[in-house]
Amino acid sequence: MLSFLRKQPLLRVASRMFSDISKIRNIGVSAHIDSGKTTFSERVLYYAGKIDRIHEVKGSDGVGATMDFMELEREKGITIQSAATFLEWKDHPINLIDTPGHVDFTIEVERALRVLDGAVLLVCGVSGVQAQTYTVYKQMERYKIPRIVFINKLDRLGANPIAITAMLKQKLGVVAEMLQIPIGEDDQFIGLVDLIKMKAFYFEGISGEEIREGEVPAKLMDQATKARQALLDKIVDLDETLGEKFLMEEPITEQDIKAAIRRQCLLRKFIPITMGSAYKNKGVQLALDAVLDYLPAPNEKVNMAFQKVVDPTTKKVEEAQIELKADTKMPFVSLAFKLEENRFGQLTYCRVYQGKLKKGDTIVNMRTNVKVRVARMAKMHANKLEDIDEIGAGDIFALFGIDCSSGTTFTKMDKGGEISLSSMFVPDPVLSVSIKLKDKKKSEKLQKAMKRFNREDPTFTFNVDSESEELIISGMGELHLQIYAERLKREFEIDIELGAPTVNYRETISAKTAYNYLHKKQSGGAGQFARVIGYLEPINDLAEKSKDTDIFVNQFISKTVGENVPNEYIVAVEKQFYDSCAKGPLTGYPMINTRMVFTDGETHVVDSSANAFQTATRYAISAAFQKSGNLLEPIMAVEITVPKDMYSPIMNSVTKRKGLVTNTETQGEFFILQAKVPLANMFGFSGELRGFTQGQGEFSMEYLTHEPVSADEQAEVIKKIKKVRTDAKQT
Ligand code: GDP
Repeated sequence: MLSFLRKQPLLRVASRMFSDISKIRNIGVSAHIDSGKTTFSERVLYYAGKIDRIHEVKGSDGVGATMDFMELEREKGITIQSAATFLEWKDHPINLIDTPGHVDFTIEVERALRVLDGAVLLVCGVSGVQAQTYTVYKQMERYKIPRIVFINKLDRLGANPIAITAMLKQKLGVVAEMLQIPIGEDDQFIGLVDLIKMKAFYFEGISGEEIREGEVPAKLMDQATKARQALLDKIVDLDETLGEKFLMEEPITEQDIKAAIRRQCLLRKFIPITMGSAYKNKGVQLALDAVLDYLPAPNEKVNMAFQKVVDPTTKKVEEAQIELKADTKMPFVSLAFKLEENRFGQLTYCRVYQGKLKKGDTIVNMRTNVKVRVARMAKMHANKLEDIDEIGAGDIFALFGIDCSSGTTFTKMDKGGEISLSSMFVPDPVLSVSIKLKDKKKSEKLQKAMKRFNREDPTFTFNVDSESEELIISGMGELHLQIYAERLKREFEIDIELGAPTVNYRETISAKTAYNYLHKKQSGGAGQFARVIGYLEPINDLAEKSKDTDIFVNQFISKTVGENVPNEYIVAVEKQFYDSCAKGPLTGYPMINTRMVFTDGETHVVDSSANAFQTATRYAISAAFQKSGNLLEPIMAVEITVPKDMYSPIMNSVTKRKGLVTNTETQGEFFILQAKVPLANMFGFSGELRGFTQGQGEFSMEYLTHEPVSADEQAEVIKKIKKVRTDAKQT
């Protein structure tokens, strides 16, 4: 029991938490698959006293299928299954945040990366920089995340940290130097020389937990001196403060060197390289020291948020960017970045960006404005959960039983104002696919799963098609949906069949188009009579404004004068317009960016009715769209990274898919291409890329906008959409 308490010094953490933001580290470990991320993380937990023994991961069979990560994790018996695991290293609280396995979930990646302050980039000591290393590196650049490198697998035959360091510099174009060199190689690898301390460290005991310090072995002295010089030269060059000391010939201490490395690492101008063998339990502790020494505390990172402002004249809600301060005295602002249902129940992982939170406080969901009282909060250890009473800026914790979707910002509104960490606008899903349940009895379970996925990820939606009665799931890309389909099988044991994916088109009017439609049926029985006159036009002014937010609106304006059309019929026309917006006249996909102006009409004393006006409006809109309706398709921003020699097949493939290349660059050994490509043309691309590059290529795509389908293709596409609908109805 005593030893248990020693390993869980949580009360101390809770009491000093508010004064010690500078000690907290929120870090992630990222790597190309199979580099040893899991093995490394397991050691981290072990050395921090979070787990009693090391569980070996099973040898991977190189399952490249990125979708298998969840199953793989389970099979491997990995301890880290939670979104954020708490540990302590040398009196520093560290939150180890799980980084997503794949890059296609734009929103998830964004969320996971924004809650990290720093990262350990793991590379294999034999293979070095692989395609995914590059992708992960680029993402960290994009989110301005300082990082250190850990070159792993130094026990393997052919591992060579010097060559890998050169490769990192060359392939990624980074400024980086080794902080250590290995003692011994292959299976004789036993320790490291620390080039700052100029001491040797050996990792002994059953699991490498006993660190023995010694003198630098004589036969390595020459190599170590040279490597230290290379490190110092680089740092003196980069860091003005150290450079000055050097010029003045003042003595340079270990602390001076570390401080200079830290400054340059935080500025992302320098990457310190650590190394070892996670599997053979060597070097991980020194990498953890480097996390403390060189990666930022929460108050050393700039975090921006959006604040809602209402334009006083137009009353439109807009967003202004503000900077948050990792200070417990500021108003509370926190981001729910991951929902998780595990054996402890429904947990919502949150990062506190500003202020503090106590058990019993009331927080406000910035999406729904719903207030909730915080009844229970906790920190997640490797396999235990610890209740806590309060939490402060910069830290990560979990809420219990709170109903929200991930990406939700919580504040204590009375003080914080309407602040949100992510833009409040969630993009519309761009791709849909129908789901067929193999076992009809599971439909209730399916509904439950759908609701949960949608809560976790608002870019995943579902609905039942009113015509075909099929369940349709929608999301941001093919892989995005495939992963959810896979999760249905694995987590909910629901077997399904997926239909062919269809992209989510939109309709709009391309130019001002007049309408004058008479709906008249006066033969026998109650008659119908209604004439509607006016025009439809694109909303250019609003479209400009809403571009950033992906919100495309429609608008109805009545400019009727006099008594020609009584008010109740105007209401009917307006209602029909908005109904038609939901189901556009060309294909049934929603209409966007369209304004209907109603100028005049004609009625009949007996035969006019709201119903007749609705029918007239429907036909009027339909006729206008037949004349100048545009079908819009989702356009994706695609980024492809391939080995340099794959340049031409990739260019050809993108051109064949009607992509517009927006940028190309060569970075070291890689060729990177950015393009705008219609989503409808991207089907099957991942398979093709894999084929071309034998798994050495990577790509990611993100929704950009909707653009008109080319004029010569529109009729054909409409025909296809209608055929898919009819086929679905018949099956
Ligand atoms: P991940 O896919 O990045 O999480 O990688 P894993 O931690 O699952 O490791 C992939 C494979 O590499 C497993 O078979 C590990 O046992 C092995 N591995 C991990 N670290 C090392 C290491 O330091 N040396 C050696 N020889 N193998 C390692």
